[in-house]
Order: sequence, then C-alpha cells, then structure tokens
Amino acid sequence: MTTTAAPKKLGLKERYALMTRGLDWQTTYQPMEKVFPYATYEGIKVHDWNAWEDPFRLTMDAYWKYQAEKEQKLYAIMDAFAQNNGHLGLTDARYINSLKLFLTGVSPLEYMAHRGFAHVGRSLPGVGARVACQMQSLDELRHVQTQIHSMSNYNKLYDGFHAWRHMHDRVWYLSVPKSFFDDAITAGPFEFMIAIGFSFEYVLTNLLFVPFISGAAYNGDMGAMAFGFSAQSDESRHMTLGLEAIKFMLEQDPDNLPIVQHWIDKWFWRGYRVLTLVAMMLDFMLPKKVMSWKEAWEIYAEENGGALFNDLARYGVRPPLGWQQACDDKVHLSSQAWSTFYQYQAAAPFHTWVPSPEDMDWMAQKYPGTFDQYYRPRFEHWAEREAAGDRYNNGTLPMLCQVCQIPMLFTEPGDPTRICYRDSVYDGERYHFCSDGCKNIFDHEPEKYVQAWLPVHQIYQGNCFRPEADPTAADFNPLLEVITWYQMNVGVDNAPYEGSEDQRHFRAWRQMTTSNA
Ligand code: FE
Ligand code: ZN
Repeated sequence: MTTTAAPKKLGLKERYALMTRGLDWQTTYQPMEKVFPYATYEGIKVHDWNAWEDPFRLTMDAYWKYQAEKEQKLYAIMDAFAQNNGHLGLTDARYINSLKLFLTGVSPLEYMAHRGFAHVGRSLPGVGARVACQMQSLDELRHVQTQIHSMSNYNKLYDGFHAWRHMHDRVWYLSVPKSFFDDAITAGPFEFMIAIGFSFEYVLTNLLFVPFISGAAYNGDMGAMAFGFSAQSDESRHMTLGLEAIKFMLEQDPDNLPIVQHWIDKWFWRGYRVLTLVAMMLDFMLPKKVMSWKEAWEIYAEENGGALFNDLARYGVRPPLGWQQACDDKVHLSSQAWSTFYQYQAAAPFHTWVPSPEDMDWMAQKYPGTFDQYYRPRFEHWAEREAAGDRYNNGTLPMLCQVCQIPMLFTEPGDPTRICYRDSVYDGERYHFCSDGCKNIFDHEPEKYVQAWLPVHQIYQGNCFRPEADPTAADFNPLLEVITWYQMNVGVDNAPYEGSEDQRHFRAWRQMTTSNA
C-alpha cells in the first residue's frame, strides 16, 4: 500500500513569491540590453530589482476571481438601470452632456492606459514591477469596456454618442486628453510610470473620478455610478504601484532625482491642464452639483497632495513647478473653460447653455470675489443676447498651446483680465504656449512637441475636410465641412441645449411616465 502525503498548501505570500521571484534569468544567446532595449536610455539607474517591494500581493488566479465577481455585480446594476428606463430618473437631460464628455475624452484614455501598461510591463527588467503592470493593463481594458457598455444605453436615446472613437482622434478639444496620453506612451517606461502611475493615478485621479462619479450619483445615473465605483476599486492597486515606482527610482540611485523631478513637474502640469475639462463639468454641467472645483481642488490637491509632497521631501523631491499657479487659478478655471465651450458650441458634440440665475448665485457663493466680478457680467450679457434671439457664436478659430493644445483661454497669473501668452523660438520657428508650465515642457524636449497635431493649424491647412469636399466651390462653408468631417450630426449634436432634441425627448418621455397624456 502506498501513501502519498497531501501536498502542503502554500500561503498567498509564498505563492506570490514563487510567481515573482527566482523566475527570471540572465539571457545568454542575446545580451540583456537587447532583450530590454528601453531600460537604460532615459538615464534611470537601477542596481537591484530585488529591492522592488510589491505594493500588493495578488496572484493571477486570485486576480481573475476578484475581477469576475466585480463584473457580475456591475453588469447586474447596469442591466437593471437600462431595463427600467433609469435614464428617466435623471435630474435633467443636461447631465447627459457630462457623459458625452467622458466617453469621448476619458474612455479612450483607459484604452491607451491598457496599451501603455502592457508595453511598460514588457520593458521593465524587474519581475515584480512587470506583474503589477500586467494587472493594471488588464484593469484598464476592463475600465474602457465597462464604460462603453454603460454608456451604450444612452446612445440609443440621446445625441452625440455615436462616433466617440472617431472624434477622439480629430475633434479640437479632444486633442487635449489625446495628446496627454500620446505623450506618455511615447515616453520611456520609467517616464510612463511617473506620468501615469504616479502623477496621474496617485496625485490627480481623485480629481477626475470623484467629480464624475459623485456627479453621476447625485444626478441619478446608477449605470455610470456603478462603473465608476467598480473602476475605483482597482484604483488602490494603481495608486500603490505609482508610489512604489517613484520611491524605487529615488532609492536606487541619487542620480535619478533630477530626472524624476523634471517628470513630476512636467506630468503634474500636463495632467492639471487636462483637468480643465473636469473643472467645467463640475461647476457648469451638473444640474445638481456635488461640490465646486475649488472645493475639490482644496481637498484632493492642496490637502492630500500637500501631505504627499511633504512625505516625499525626504528623497529631496519638491512640489511640482506650477503647483502654486494651479492653486491660485482654482477660482477662475471652470468659468474660463465653460465660456470657451459656450462660444464654440457649433464645434462641440455636446450641448452648452448659459447658467441659470440660481446657478450663477451658487457660483457666486462658491467663488466669492471672482465670479460676480469677472464672469457673471459675461454670462448675463450672453443670456440677454439669447433672449433677443441673437445667441453669440465665435466664428474665428483660437490659437492653441503647442503643448497642452488648449485654446489660449487662461489668464496671466495675478491678472484675470489679460490672456496669458508665452513663446519660444526653435529651429527658426516661433511656438506659442498658454503658460510658463507648458513653455518649460516644450523647452526641455522641443523635438517632441514641434510634431504636435494642432487641430486649428490642421483646419487652416485644409487637412480636416472629407476627401470629396471642394474648398473652391462658391458655397463652400469650411466650418460646416470640418463639423461633418468630425462626424457630428450637424444642427443636432452641436446645437445649444435650449431647444435641442435631447431636451425635447427627455421632457416628452418623462411626461409619458408620469401622466396619461
Ligand atoms: Fe482606469
Ligand atoms: Zn498649454
């Protein structure tokens, strides 16, 4: 009779160690530098990958199990919301415009994060870092999929959702988030980890997700709320990965500090500029408001970020350049951004409107000392023009910042009545920037940014027309042609909210559910 002893069951820690330690080998028939070609050219020095501390210990089988459970719960909520016509329980159809902004501007970034982490995971020579990047890559793929599924329900009923992928690569304001991520994935693996893992996931992510997800909850959108919470539950892993990445780089070699510091400066500013869209969403696009941009900035940036940079001071890291300006601008950002979108309504696939008198009072209360002084008169003027049947539309195209690609809408530090312009000459050409932050980024890597695909420049060069368009025709309307090339449904997607199809449908459908008419 033979007896076999039952194999000893390994603990999670041991299983994780088996997965991430001792599996690696030194290559023989190809040199290591050729197997990991991106590991050294950024100048980051790593002496011992074993010093990488895995911030979370999750085996692959446990990962699939947790994620599958989350998916089940998420899809149950999304299905229930769709089947019960949950959209009719929204506060107001104006809310849906924040989803259009999210689907066209943010969801494609989730997909780029998926690709970026897959690439970086392949490129880093340390196994622990590689496994963590692999999991985050899978998380990001899940995020983009759940977001598309959740918002596909709105596409059946409301305008402006149909061509989000096409628009992301072409529409003027979407070049802002697109160029942010294109910049990150074309950087080296260590810079990507500081750009996305640290600066975005650790420092700025709460300023993106909390406003959108609380906004969804406050305005009755259970579908978006559910995908938001489900994504946020992966976020603790992403944040610890970003923090471990920066600490690891700083601990490995003192020469890494100046390189890392420049990346912090650069990626804080690039991320902050993208958040301009969030500021405007929070203050102007939510019918029922959660908190002001100023309040969000104070909690998530000034308090949390301030504590983080105090903690990192022991490595010699200082707060990012531009931090103070971002703090000073918190009282202007959203009003300046919304004013721009209002003027360019004809070129955006979501609706805009003048804030109501009550909403303006809310803004005045949240922004004492700035809203009534600088912005209320402008909105009231536009409201009067609308009432007179003469809605203001800006028929010219704005100059764009060469780095963040935002129109020149920001004002001088300390003077909210003057637009801020900076410029640099490179290789005989003059380039323009919205701020000192963007100019610094350009001056450090001009070859990268002279290649920027700036929507306004491309329009003026005639590169944003359909092939069959004839610019020599007597009745050629360039703006109309560009909007058509964007695949917007002209006069529907890009109409003012007042009188829009979304507004009419929502009213009519809601009335059907609450009356016998
Ligand atoms: Fe994500
Ligand atoms: Zn800029």
